[in-house]
Amino acid sequence: MAARKANRGESMAKSAFFCKAVGAATAMPGMAVLAAGWLTLLPPAGRGLPADAAAVRLEPGEHPAAHAARIESSGDRAKLIFELSAPVDATAFVLADPDRVIVDLPQTDFALDPETGKAAHSPAGLIASYRFGQLAPGKSRVVIDLGAPALVLRAACDKSDSDGPTRLVIELAKTDRRSFQAAAQSARIRLAALAQPKKPQTPEPESAKPVIMVDPGHGGIDHGAMVKGLIEKELVFDFAKAVAAKLDADGRFKVVMTRDDDSFVPLSERVRMARDKNAALFVSIHADTLSSAADVSGATVYTVSDRASDAEAARVAEKENQSDAAAGLDKTEDASDVSGILFDLTRRETRAYSHFFAHTLVNYWRIACRLNKNPRRSAGFRVLKAPDVPSVLLELGYLSNEKDVLALTSAQWRDTASSQVAEAIKAFFAARESGATVTKTDPNLAPVGKIPSAGP
Ligand SMILES: [Zn+2]
Repeated sequence: MAARKANRGESMAKSAFFCKAVGAATAMPGMAVLAAGWLTLLPPAGRGLPADAAAVRLEPGEHPAAHAARIESSGDRAKLIFELSAPVDATAFVLADPDRVIVDLPQTDFALDPETGKAAHSPAGLIASYRFGQLAPGKSRVVIDLGAPALVLRAACDKSDSDGPTRLVIELAKTDRRSFQAAAQSARIRLAALAQPKKPQTPEPESAKPVIMVDPGHGGIDHGAMVKGLIEKELVFDFAKAVAAKLDADGRFKVVMTRDDDSFVPLSERVRMARDKNAALFVSIHADTLSSAADVSGATVYTVSDRASDAEAARVAEKENQSDAAAGLDKTEDASDVSGILFDLTRRETRAYSHFFAHTLVNYWRIACRLNKNPRRSAGFRVLKAPDVPSVLLELGYLSNEKDVLALTSAQWRDTASSQVAEAIKAFFAARESGATVTKTDPNLAPVGKIPSAGP
């Protein structure tokens, strides 16, 4: 059936905590409630392929497809099972803080509703939720958020009979906190050893035009907010493309996107890209959701600050900062958290430009679109931490609010709203070129001098 076979020759585990997938192990029990006490949680009906699409012969360049997922639980154990069109090699490990199981796979097409694992809640409480998707070209990943400390017993493909689909079985067993921490620490050391040193970038030739970096939030395995079939990473990508197209059409800017497809880009990488490209402005696009308050609506423009402007801003920053953890990345030190007098001066000036642009954006946005009742806020957003690139984060609205959803899913609204963003950017650079002065916009900020011209 499959063009590619799982590598059965591999040793079962390179270390106690890195399970390398091998072929058939145990025959899997059936679905529904099972004799051995395994309870199956069926995923919500979604975008899955029909069951007869299971037996697919892979052509060269084609990837295995996952077309169903379910959880089976028994006592202190839980299994997350994906039905696949072909076997894959899987590598599994655990990470702490937040507690997760990571399963790395070769590129796999997940023909599943992205909301499938949103709130899985296996009866044993081991699997709180899970997600899946692309991590990097050629690499896919499953991330399981743990409800209790667990170890991976196996992450391997098996097949119940010759006609049935291949199943990737990720089997977890509850453990104590100490054993879990030891496993996570072991994985962390191994990951650090495997990490490739970043190749030094050849400096970009200075662009004759100001570089605008448009950053569609999330991507790949990190879906962002998901409400009733609306996926943040998709909505914000369409919006970012619309903004980029309008700026491109203007001709005065060089526009760069942090991602131009549905791929995952770590937060620090987005910051690095902006700095490497000598971006003159970084605009991150997101969409919020607030399940407890469906009446909260409208766009909000955020800038970075050491202390959050209010509790709501702190909540949003915390959520957006989880992007890397959602994709199963280990905690990384923020390279931008260095200090020094020169650094502080640069950062202070950059923040003044960020505030100036944020105000400009709010003023342009209000001409044609709805704003949150407190549309200018600040908090510790990691993606806005480039010390030398003015950066803002625009939350387009709330996926939990009906009016906002109507707007965000309307092509006409997208056209209008993206025009306002493009106009705000043009106004910002026009002000810089005219030598306008950034005034004090934040009690923590000292006023700075003349804005330098945008051009070379
Ligand atoms: Zn977001």
